[in-house]
Amino acid sequence: MKVTVIIDNAVPIGTGRPFLAEHGLSLLIEHAGKKVLYDTGQSSAVVSNLSLLGFRPAELDMLVVSHGHYDHTGGIFHVLQHARKKIPVYAHTKIFQARYSVAGDQRRFIGIPHEKEVLTALGAEWCFINAPTEIISGLWMSGHIPRNTEYETGDPKLVTCATDGDECHDTIEDDTSLFYAGPRGLVVIGGCTHAGLVNTVRGGLRSQAPRDWLAGLVGRTWGLCRKSSRQKLSLSLPRLALSLSRPITVQVSR
Ligand SMILES: [Zn+2]
Repeated sequence: MKVTVIIDNAVPIGTGRPFLAEHGLSLLIEHAGKKVLYDTGQSSAVVSNLSLLGFRPAELDMLVVSHGHYDHTGGIFHVLQHARKKIPVYAHTKIFQARYSVAGDQRRFIGIPHEKEVLTALGAEWCFINAPTEIISGLWMSGHIPRNTEYETGDPKLVTCATDGDECHDTIEDDTSLFYAGPRGLVVIGGCTHAGLVNTVRGGLRSQAPRDWLAGLVGRTWGLCRKSSRQKLSLSLPRLALSLSRPITVQVSR
């Protein structure tokens, strides 16, 4: 399996090509003869960066959405517009939930910026998955990730609308990661891992047994931003040696 970063918050110095950076994430996963785009960043930058790397949206076999935040989904519209074909889009059923970020008395919409019907008209073939599912050989979509740790409580500034219409904390129920059962163990590929990194890793280890050890983490791992969470992860997975190679990319080895 090969993973290429398409969209990240920063572009490395010295690439020699005019890559675009933006707050968000998009990864191209090449595996078993398939090209899977996991998240799309927030704009058309994903199409531009794919092109600079020699890829065309029409080559993609499927899109996978990690969760319904704009910085992971805004590029779906542009990818479909350029692909000009039907593409399966795998996601949790709740990705289109209305969601907001609050700061003081300000409330900002941070959900998917395009209507489901608009994306469907452009070629999105929705495959809604809420349980662990092998989407291509050896690559699993987590489905809903159980929240079992008491310390991975999520971001209190993220809110959604409850069924009674009132505002409530958004636990990002649709947060979905990918699990790759590789020869060296489990690789977890996360969008934001709002479900909590420990919950996510445990979910992967559960669904991928007997490959009961972790080989790597790729993507954004908000749960690791705080030092206390980092320590908790080390305690929760004591067999792992943890090292942070970049602020948002984590490599874990035995
Ligand atoms: Zn998010």
